[in-house]
Amino acid sequence: MRAIPVDAGSHQKRPTNGDHPTGRSLKNFFAGHAKYPQFKKKGKSHDSFTLTNDQFSVDTSRIRIPHLGSVRMRETLRFSGKILSATVSRTADQWFASITVDTDSSHVPPAENQGVVGVDLGVSALATLSTGEVVTGAKPYKALLSRLQRLSRSLSRKVNGSTNRAKAKRKLAKLHARIANIRKNALHQLTTDLTRRFHTLGIEDLNVFGMVKNRHLSRAISDMGFFEFRRQLEYKADRRGGVVVVAGRFFASSKTCSACGEKLEKLPLSVRQWDCPTCGVSHDRDVNAAINLANYAVSYTVSACGGDGSGLGRKPKAKPAPVKQEFDCKFDDVQVCISSK
Ligand SMILES: [Zn+2]
Repeated sequence: MRAIPVDAGSHQKRPTNGDHPTGRSLKNFFAGHAKYPQFKKKGKSHDSFTLTNDQFSVDTSRIRIPHLGSVRMRETLRFSGKILSATVSRTADQWFASITVDTDSSHVPPAENQGVVGVDLGVSALATLSTGEVVTGAKPYKALLSRLQRLSRSLSRKVNGSTNRAKAKRKLAKLHARIANIRKNALHQLTTDLTRRFHTLGIEDLNVFGMVKNRHLSRAISDMGFFEFRRQLEYKADRRGGVVVVAGRFFASSKTCSACGEKLEKLPLSVRQWDCPTCGVSHDRDVNAAINLANYAVSYTVSACGGDGSGLGRKPKAKPAPVKQEFDCKFDDVQVCISSK
């Protein structure tokens, strides 16, 4: 399946609706948000093209693509509903068809436990919950780092433009894609589990850019994918009618005692365990932070409902994710692997 022409079907019958990437990028350009759109070049950019639903058809485990014909898919379409479009893309020599289906999401049941949880994201553990649970998370980058370094080295030694270089490049890209997949899977499992169990989720608005700049922390933090964590949590909670409350960047979740509210002046990152000087309660750094985030989420939702907003007695600094009570039709993107060599 390696020889799919990337431009198959993309030049003819270009859809003219506003959702098409070209329409979108021009709109962004005229709005002053982006530069003038550039044409893509096969092999130089992210190779992908989009088909509207009149240009392709899906039949259990096959997809019919213009100029290519019928291509077997690795799995069948998991969602039923009106098929709107398909984007065929290439990642590390694997081809994917991402099929947009107009589905009714109201079948997603609300969270099992209607309670509140605080989630503290960390470096040593992916997440610590206010219930005391610790989610270690996958750290694929660390485990596969030596192999990544070896492949990168091997690539850099190959002559520019040679077949061996192309081969080495493919190998490296495959490893990168594998790492990304392991990371994606771990994050999806965590965010699905959290939103399935809890209605209200308190998280911290992490200054990821600032943290990644810190060289000692950068690798571990990028490995965890904080941005992606928040994005997934928000859309998944939204589907189940849950709420994600994001505490502001300067909310002192770690330094505040969750038992009495005492705020410490300083708490170095190396201190994992501390005793409150005021009430004497012994805290695990991360669990304490998670409990504070849970309390914050409670105080936020209480004040949003017209209560006095007790809790930690502070006004929320960050706008929480909007609560959507009613379900309308959502688009589910199903990514189906259509080939692997
Ligand atoms: Zn205390």
